Amino acid sequence: MAKPPPPSYSKLLQQVRKGQVKDLELSLLRREVTVTYPAGAKVQVPVFNNDQELLRTAQQARVPLTVRDDRRDEATAGLIGNILLVVLLFGGLTLLIRRSSQVANRAMGFGRSQARIQPEGSIDVRFEDVAGIAEAKQELEEVVTFLRQPERFTSIGAKIPKGVLLVGPPGTGKTLLAKAIAGEAGVPFFSIAASEFVEMFVGVGASRVRDLFRRAKEKAPCIIFIDEIDAVGRQRGAGIGGGNDEREQTLNQLLTEMDGFQDNSGVILLAATNRPDVLDTALMRPGRFDRRIVVDLPDRRGREQILAVHARSRPLDPEVSLSDWASRTPGFSGADLSNLLNEAAILTARRDLQTINDQALNDALERITMGLGVAPLQDSAKKRLIAYHEIGHALITTLLPQADQLDKVTLLPRAGGVGGFARTMPDEEILDSGLISKAYLRARLVVAMGGRAAEVVVFGPSEVTQGASGDLEMVSRICREMVTRYGFSSLGPVALEADAGEVFLGRDWLRSDPHYSRETGNRIDTLVRSLARESLQEAINLLSPRRALIDRLVDLLIEQETLGGEEFRAVVSRYEAAREPVSAG
Ligand code: ADP
Repeated sequence: MAKPPPPSYSKLLQQVRKGQVKDLELSLLRREVTVTYPAGAKVQVPVFNNDQELLRTAQQARVPLTVRDDRRDEATAGLIGNILLVVLLFGGLTLLIRRSSQVANRAMGFGRSQARIQPEGSIDVRFEDVAGIAEAKQELEEVVTFLRQPERFTSIGAKIPKGVLLVGPPGTGKTLLAKAIAGEAGVPFFSIAASEFVEMFVGVGASRVRDLFRRAKEKAPCIIFIDEIDAVGRQRGAGIGGGNDEREQTLNQLLTEMDGFQDNSGVILLAATNRPDVLDTALMRPGRFDRRIVVDLPDRRGREQILAVHARSRPLDPEVSLSDWASRTPGFSGADLSNLLNEAAILTARRDLQTINDQALNDALERITMGLGVAPLQDSAKKRLIAYHEIGHALITTLLPQADQLDKVTLLPRAGGVGGFARTMPDEEILDSGLISKAYLRARLVVAMGGRAAEVVVFGPSEVTQGASGDLEMVSRICREMVTRYGFSSLGPVALEADAGEVFLGRDWLRSDPHYSRETGNRIDTLVRSLARESLQEAINLLSPRRALIDRLVDLLIEQETLGGEEFRAVVSRYEAAREPVSAG
């Protein structure tokens, strides 16, 4: 049904008067009237606010008029809408607050220390698992008594040490020792690396230190082990970029905590480092780290004992002599030795054998010392060149009485570009005593030049290769140290340079000026060069009359790819014996 067009207001009044309208409905809110005609059609006509005229007219014409107060509906709807809005707002706000409190919590958690705790009784490391570092062990055994029966010491007025600093190269068993103390004493073990204290936010480190000590005190007696303490314990004020940085605040907090705990609180702090030289002196004051225990690389007997400890859980072939293997691994740390046995066990499993034999240990040793083995060289010209070079080193080390003993020379290449190598066994006595003679260093120089010398003797001075660059680097370093540090040259007994070992940024950089004149500098350079040149000449002098021996050894090496020290020496001494009468005559 088509909707009739709405009448004008006056027309509507007329229609009402004439009774052409069925009824009217007035909406107060919308200020309009809905007109229903007798035919059923409806139209809306706008009206005045508070329209009396229409009311009157409708009344006179007896047209029913309903007034709808939809303002109230509207108000209710509005009210509901408002309430809904408030609820929504409130909900949103709660959500927001909850979220931000989570973030805040996380930020708070930042200040919690990241230490790993091993509760008492869960540590199965004992002193018997630590071998080869008898002195350190002895000193630390006392700490166990401190933890177990503190009254024995306190009753006679002895103060229990608060901190023990373990100093030694990596892998020598410092962590292991700390764990063994906790294991023996049956106390909880908190361990953390000092670097974990420090975050990018200032103040976090200090709050972590506080948290760690608070938790430790709750569990006392216990042990806190801080690894690599030099990460926070460096001398204050020595950092490049200066002053009061986050690390220093962390260190200050550590010092405060150490001062803070009572003598009988039962928390013992163990810390490990291999850079005691950079530690802040405040850390070493009595009442903090009052004890300093050196954990050194093991000697031959120590190595044998460590191997024995690690061999307990691994079946060894009866042919394996641990004392031989201890002799063959000078300079190895406990961790290296454990790694050696582990590699050997892996190789044994791969070969489907039941026990670890010498062969497996040998391969493992090579793998550890020289990287992974790769396929032997095919190219024979290159192989010969490398063979001459390596035989040069091997022959000189065999000929010079002061030089190290040859362990083996091999052409089996290693990943990393090493085409072959001549391995010597460092003299145990020298390694243990740390004393190196001038004659020994001279011999090392000549041995290092052996490769280049062999190339000169065999291929001529213009055919030498860059293969000797690594040797030359070593030669230059030794020569320089001989001149500037040990007083082994005509410059006299003066030490002109300090140990250049590791530079401690901020301390050494700032005073790296040499303490000698320019002329002395020139003389040093000249002496270094002449030492190197003499060494090369000496190597050439040793090799050139033995051309036939060199060729024979190279053939042997190319044929067998590896020559053992014994075998090598046998060939050389046979040749030398035959040569003797000639040179005598
Ligand atoms: P550090 O803390 O000194 O760097 P670790 O204590 O972490 O060295 O040693 C690593 C691993 O090497 C140990 O878990 C252990 O298997 C082995 N190890 C090191 N030193 C010894 C030792 N003296 N006796 C037995 N095992 C050792």
